[in-house]
Amino acid sequence: MFAPILNESILKRAQEKKKVAIHIHDLRDYADDKKHRKVDDRPFGGGPGMLMMPQPLFDAIKAIKGRRKVHVIYTSPAGKPFSQNHAKRLTRLKNLIIICGHYEGIDERVREHLVDEEISVGDYVLTGGELPAMLITDAVTRLIPGVLGKKESLVSESFEGNLLEGPQYTRPANFRGKKVPPVLLSGNHKTIEIWRKSQALTKTKKVRPDLLEKKNKGASNDGNES
Ligand code: SAM
Repeated sequence: MFAPILNESILKRAQEKKKVAIHIHDLRDYADDKKHRKVDDRPFGGGPGMLMMPQPLFDAIKAIKGRRKVHVIYTSPAGKPFSQNHAKRLTRLKNLIIICGHYEGIDERVREHLVDEEISVGDYVLTGGELPAMLITDAVTRLIPGVLGKKESLVSESFEGNLLEGPQYTRPANFRGKKVPPVLLSGNHKTIEIWRKSQALTKTKKVRPDLLEKKNKGASNDGNES
């Protein structure tokens, strides 16, 4: 699942430029059960589905961490909702492990003893933590200094200062009678900047008024320090 995402575009270039190193670890390699490489079992007390057993996760995390200080994340619907500020905070940590849950989830003792934080990518349930892990990896990697070129600048992107990005246009200035706002053709950078800010405000007010409320309260968009 990971290769097509990690080996394309900005994530690929970030690894080539050594801005980030991403390793995928197969939990089955750490299973005590060498014959069947078993990593899941039935939940105590009954109930549907299987749970990821503690042993492979405890041993994998211990081996991967080694002596390094590592922040361990578990992708979970019960986690804190992921946000841009959350991603920014993660860029300040040197080593991250992201546990991808599967089946009905993981044994609670892993959460209690190994996990530093749980992150949710939204109020819905996915099959596994692979997509959330890639989503977090993508959002964090593109924020690492030097990963994006000038062409893909982070300035004035959505969620900067709790605002969404306003409308953008490219050539032609007149597409089948639909014209670009004249201010963008004026060449007056100051006026364009003011227009863009007001458009960003209007759009945010229309589609995400909750962000503006946070902006007015001076809070970051996930309640965390940005
Ligand atoms: N039984 C779990 C529950 O009700 O919370 C759901 C398990 S889900 C089928 C399997 C795995 O997918 C989870 O352990 C988690 O790692 C991942 N996952 C599913 N939805 C997610 C979400 N919204 N955010 C982050 N991870 C999610």
